[in-house]
Amino acid sequence: MSENTFRLRILPAYFTSTVEEFKDEKPVHFVGYAKCNFNCDFCIFGQRSKHLELYPEYTLEQFEKKVWKLLTVSKNFKIVGGEPTLNPYVKDLARIIRLYGGKIYLDTNGSRPRIIKEMIEEGLVDVLGLSLKGLTPQQAADTASITNTKLCWDNLFESLELGSKAENVRVLLTYVACEGQFTDESLDTLGDFLAPYPDVILKINNCYNEEYLDGIKGLDKSEIYDMVKRFVERRPEYKGRTMLFKDHDSCVDKTQIARF
Ligand code: SF4
Repeated sequence: MSENTFRLRILPAYFTSTVEEFKDEKPVHFVGYAKCNFNCDFCIFGQRSKHLELYPEYTLEQFEKKVWKLLTVSKNFKIVGGEPTLNPYVKDLARIIRLYGGKIYLDTNGSRPRIIKEMIEEGLVDVLGLSLKGLTPQQAADTASITNTKLCWDNLFESLELGSKAENVRVLLTYVACEGQFTDESLDTLGDFLAPYPDVILKINNCYNEEYLDGIKGLDKSEIYDMVKRFVERRPEYKGRTMLFKDHDSCVDKTQIARF
């Protein structure tokens, strides 16, 4: 790779707007980095990132020109991965977006709280998306195929704490539900984890892309809907801040998101 370049996959206006922080309701540009430090068993990133042609090289100047074009469609950007905080230029990307009045959703596995802290302190984050990979440190590490539980557990909760204490940052915690592993009790455990953070949105993603995964799949859509509905009935403090993505359509079509 050339000096001072980084690989990104940019998909204009790809995501639907999921949170009220993107008040204009316009679509959200996908700005994906080409590396990840996890290899989650429900994720196809590892397969996709082998195709480097999907992740062309950019310089900051080229990225800035791209941002100008994207801004004519929407000013909403989701900085994702892989793991976006691995990109040594992630703050520069966010600064460029901010310079032109863009809104920033940083979607991260939470393993690198120092960078998240720096970005929050510099005012480079409007929405912080975090993902918890399991309900115990070992389960999270197994799912992420890593050995150091600090990365997927301690650091994740440190990032959650940072985001939830920050003014003007909306935090979402995502949990991917897989068949055979996700139950009513799983939701109660998530509810317990988030009890100290009354402003954090709980986002349940039913596992999708099963055609590319090795025997891992999501739950029946009506079954998981009923589970989340029962959870909010048991834990009314989660009413108004719980959402369910039943399948991939929810990422790109707001009407497919179930809100409770
Ligand atoms: S951290 Fe995210 S991008 Fe990386 S493997 Fe896990 S789900 Fe995929």
